[in-house]
Amino acid sequence: MKKVNKLVIVGGGTAGWITASWFSRRWGSKIDVTIIDKYQPERVGVGEATLLSFPSVMQKMGFRVEDWVKRIDATFKAGILFPGWGREDKVIWHPFGFTSIGDNKVPMYDIWSNYQSKYDVKEISPLYRTAMGNKIELDYIKDTYAYQIDCGKLVTFLHDNCNKICNYIQSDVKTVVKVDDDVEKIILEDGSEIKADLFIDCTGWNQLLIGKEDNVDLSDRLFIDSALAARVKYENPDKEMHPYTDCQAMEHGWRWRIPTRSRIGTGYCFNKNITSPDEVAKQFSEHWNGRIKPEDMRLLDWKPQMIDKFWKGNVVSIGLSAGFIEPLESTGLAMMIRGCEYLEESLYGCIYNPVFEPDIYNIRMKASFETAVDYVNMHYSYSERKGKFWDYVRLSHEKSGMQILMENQILDPNNETLQTDKISSFFGGTNWHIWLLQLMPEITKKTYWYPDTVDILSRFEKYIQTLDNNVKEATPQKILLKEWYG
Ligand SMILES: Cc1cc2nc3c(=O)[nH]c(=O)nc-3n(C[C@H](O)[C@H](O)[C@H](O)COP(=O)(O)OP(=O)(O)OC[C@H]3O[C@@H](n4cnc5c(N)ncnc54)[C@H](O)[C@@H]3O)c2cc1C
Repeated sequence: MKKVNKLVIVGGGTAGWITASWFSRRWGSKIDVTIIDKYQPERVGVGEATLLSFPSVMQKMGFRVEDWVKRIDATFKAGILFPGWGREDKVIWHPFGFTSIGDNKVPMYDIWSNYQSKYDVKEISPLYRTAMGNKIELDYIKDTYAYQIDCGKLVTFLHDNCNKICNYIQSDVKTVVKVDDDVEKIILEDGSEIKADLFIDCTGWNQLLIGKEDNVDLSDRLFIDSALAARVKYENPDKEMHPYTDCQAMEHGWRWRIPTRSRIGTGYCFNKNITSPDEVAKQFSEHWNGRIKPEDMRLLDWKPQMIDKFWKGNVVSIGLSAGFIEPLESTGLAMMIRGCEYLEESLYGCIYNPVFEPDIYNIRMKASFETAVDYVNMHYSYSERKGKFWDYVRLSHEKSGMQILMENQILDPNNETLQTDKISSFFGGTNWHIWLLQLMPEITKKTYWYPDTVDILSRFEKYIQTLDNNVKEATPQKILLKEWYG
């Protein structure tokens, strides 16, 4: 067994500060936490759309929502809107809330399959109509909304709340001394040496401690490897500050629009082997009617990859050093949060068994990455869009086993479509279900619940009435943010 008395995190980007806060605020009395970052941090500086795990992790670190919403420039995120995916005239909605109906908990979308001509599936999805009206449903605020944030301000917030309970060293790590897979010590720029029981590599794409040799290339399943990112001033915040993230398919890939409290974060994702950054920059600027110019844009490019062993020797990689899929579906922050949660479970009592705990951690992280890659990959299927990027996607796209399984479920009238808690995937069955319902050309009417028809149908109608009421009672986001959080 190995005891962990001292934890050293190298890198102070989003991953570094989330990890440092997680362990110092939750285990501060049991473990000595040190975080090291360069004097002039070189952070990626993007990563602003979160998933539901974000508010939950802030709570687990002991932060009250009213303490951080304003400080990190947060707005609510009820889901993600995907205009133009599949076909130019299509709009897909990925909600966070899912519901089932009746004593047997029939998935709501299985019931909807009988009402396809009556209701647009988006219109009957939780939070959709209120989100489109820039409104928030107070009854669901605690567990069905994620947030859109300024990631630089998040780092500042975590730093301000943790630098007294963990050691913060500002220095470049110049040398990493390894014995086999273990880091024996790291050497800082002033020559001082630091040892630890466990090191966390949060140095982003540098992968300073874990090394680059075990990276697994994912570019055969992923299509995006570059983005131009920029910030845009609000012209009309009442309209533009919407409580959802907007990811629109474009000729050369897709574009995100993330409205935080004081400005909009935006980026155009593309494949650098197919389209040049200059070509994308021109279209991106036109798309924003000149509100951003090519010189305001920052190019970020990467290799879609994950590390084969997330925990090797006495080094665990969290954040970009562990891998990056692409920005679609906001997996970055969620994956680092998952890394912290799994690591805490492996280190329970600050002790771990080196014979199997790293293997368990690695399998859990690998499953998270693999299934998230499959989910992102699915978004690119069935595309009828024109242009060289989408031609390339059509030529190289292969459905994953998970997509085939989910499609077969959706097309089988006699069986329930598997839902969240019954499937082992980073994105649960409900997430797959709703996306595929909007992407597939035809959806089968489900009949397996017909013995309960009268009860189910009346409960479904009641559900629709509830949504109508929610729309009437919802509060404008602008008012809520001001009144609740100042
Ligand atoms: C285009 C793009 C869009 C994204 N959008 C989203 C999104 O909407 N939602 C989401 O959840 N995720 C998103 N992500 C992912 C997410 O932003 C990143 O995972 C995260 O912001 C960066 O995490 P990081 O801390 O791992 O890396 P970095 O920000 O790169 O931080 C690395 C840190 O290590 C330090 N460092 C490096 N070398 C040394 C050294 N030798 N000594 C000391 N310190 C060192 C650097 O100074 C820096 O502070 C996006 C990523 C990209 C590229």
